[in-house]
Amino acid sequence: MKIEQLRGLGKKRAELFHKLGVYSVGQLLNFYPRTYEDWSDITDIENIRDGETVCIKGELASGVKSGYTKTGKFIAKALVADETGVCELVFFNNPYIRTMLKSDVEYRFLGKATKNLNALQMISPTFMDESESNEIKPIYNLTAGLPNYVVIKAVRQAISLLPEEVNDPLPEELREKYGLCGLRYAIENIHFPESSEALATAKKRLVIEELLVLNLGLRKLKNHKRGDNKNVIKKDYSKEFESFLSFELTNAQKNAICDCVNDVMDPDVSMNRLVQGDVGSGKTAVAGSLCYTVIKNGGQAAVMAPTEILAEQHYNSFKEILKDTGVRIALLTGSVKKSEKDSIRARLESGELDLVIGTHALITDNTQFKNLVLVVTDEQHRFGVAQRAKLLSKGNSPHLLVMSATPIPRTLGLIIFGDLDISIIDELPPGRQEIHTLLIDSSKRQRALGFIRREVQRGFQAYIVCPLVEEGEGGSDLASAEEYAAELMLNYFSDIPVGILHGKMKPAEKEAVMSQFSSGELKILVATTVIEVGIDVPNATIMMIENAERFGLSQLHQLRGRVGRGTEKSWCILVSDSDTENSRERLKTMCTTRDGFKIADADLKLRGPGDFFGSRQHGLPQLNISSLADTRNLEISQKIADYVVADSNFLYDDRYRALNAEITRLFRDTGEESLN
Ligand code: ADP
Ligand code: MG
Repeated sequence: MKIEQLRGLGKKRAELFHKLGVYSVGQLLNFYPRTYEDWSDITDIENIRDGETVCIKGELASGVKSGYTKTGKFIAKALVADETGVCELVFFNNPYIRTMLKSDVEYRFLGKATKNLNALQMISPTFMDESESNEIKPIYNLTAGLPNYVVIKAVRQAISLLPEEVNDPLPEELREKYGLCGLRYAIENIHFPESSEALATAKKRLVIEELLVLNLGLRKLKNHKRGDNKNVIKKDYSKEFESFLSFELTNAQKNAICDCVNDVMDPDVSMNRLVQGDVGSGKTAVAGSLCYTVIKNGGQAAVMAPTEILAEQHYNSFKEILKDTGVRIALLTGSVKKSEKDSIRARLESGELDLVIGTHALITDNTQFKNLVLVVTDEQHRFGVAQRAKLLSKGNSPHLLVMSATPIPRTLGLIIFGDLDISIIDELPPGRQEIHTLLIDSSKRQRALGFIRREVQRGFQAYIVCPLVEEGEGGSDLASAEEYAAELMLNYFSDIPVGILHGKMKPAEKEAVMSQFSSGELKILVATTVIEVGIDVPNATIMMIENAERFGLSQLHQLRGRVGRGTEKSWCILVSDSDTENSRERLKTMCTTRDGFKIADADLKLRGPGDFFGSRQHGLPQLNISSLADTRNLEISQKIADYVVADSNFLYDDRYRALNAEITRLFRDTGEESLN
């Protein structure tokens, strides 16, 4: 039913609803309030605390006095009293207050109170007649010309049109099992709560339903994407690969390799696996091993990295490891000459190359393969479900191996990587040193720089990281990386070779600086976060991070992972003058743990899920009422999803028909046609 069909909503008003994304009565029912005014919970005046938003009940204890402020604003004041005390009410720019507020009438006032010494004030409260109401009032997101009361009326009407028995996506037995209320009760109480408990009950049910639908949808996607294994691998060459390495694989690496090999040899389904391991856990060797097995079986493999620097680094390590094997490798990045690119592409198409390593864009866009059997993508969290799908459309449904160093809280991982199997490398290679992490303020910077100098004199190398300062990043209060580096070179390190690395440099310039740092020619590297991912210089033992509060914890963790890669004791110095409690707490977490998963959990709690993926970049559907930061309810919904899947073939079970319809609806806008 279209929204225009509601009584009292003309074409004009209906268009305003359209602006808010509400076209149908059904959508209106799902248009939940932004917040509520709680007129039901009355606070005694004597109990009001400074800064609280409260509702008080009382009569005027004075007449309304009015006048003008120094700046010429009309101001009206009155005192309100209950049995416990008196509070001053202040109104601006409302000459009608005098006639609106009568004495000897009981009112409720709702607003934010301030308490200074003993003077209690409420500025611009809203109020209503005591006889009028006792409710929790919904406040909707509005648009110009559409007042809140119109939305309220429309929603009331929409609810009155609901049949007595609504078709509930959560079958009764499920609701009973998990203590969730029915849909009708939930809709009524999310809009017009009977009490704050009723609101909480309604909200919980709607949140869990939405997360459940998301969960089940991703599982559906996972089963759907997973085609037959068109590239069954016959023989396992991972033992042979191990003999090329200069080190012993850790057990965790061996297990991950074993998972991968089992996947590609499984005749039924093709591989779709995430290998998640903290920085430095040795994911490259896992990828290398699988590439080798695939190539020895006659297939081609592609390894994709998010940056040129990383691609080049992978290229160098693969070339080194595979040097005596006859495997034909090429590097394909933006800075490769056009003629060379053309030649690489031609050889990939004719099958004269076995392995290509490059940046994502180059490999996804217009590169053809003779027999692409395996795609490896590194640092996957930057790419979403949709990009993965695009990759799989290359060649003849290649196997997909995704590597991520971003420890993602488990619950969130299940969502973001819902369509992948997961292997976790939870063990670092032996002999790794601790990274001592210190938090200092800028008054100690001099000493820190002196410390860096000593480390360099002992033969080690250092990173100094300053927050990204690209144009339009709003970082004008910070010196640019270049200026900052110039200042360091001039005043502190005039006798030490210092290099700069930032995002605005040309790829070739970046490469040059990186290779000078790798070779030890440069001792100190001043960089923005371009060094965040994957760079591996074991001789670097110290990192100083300026304005550390500007980074997310997971990002700091990634950055810090650039040191402590060799066998030497390493240091990470966080410089921050921020004294907000939140940022202190976050930075202290960094000093006390090196466990990426713990750090990620703290980050999720303190900053929300934004750091784990940009708003829509992850390719997940837009959520209406739930949040991916809501770990508790995510876990509950996960459990219910497990139950539903175990309970029956829910796709075809009549009891879950309405639930299936919800899944289709939620995923409609993500371009996942496969779910329709
Ligand atoms: P990441 O998981 O961060 O990608 P890398 O694969 O780059 O880690 O490995 C980090 C460093 O550890 C590299 O220098 C690599 O050669 C080394 N390494 C990997 N596995 C082992 C191991 N089992 N024993 C010793 N060193 C290892
Ligand atoms: Mg890596």
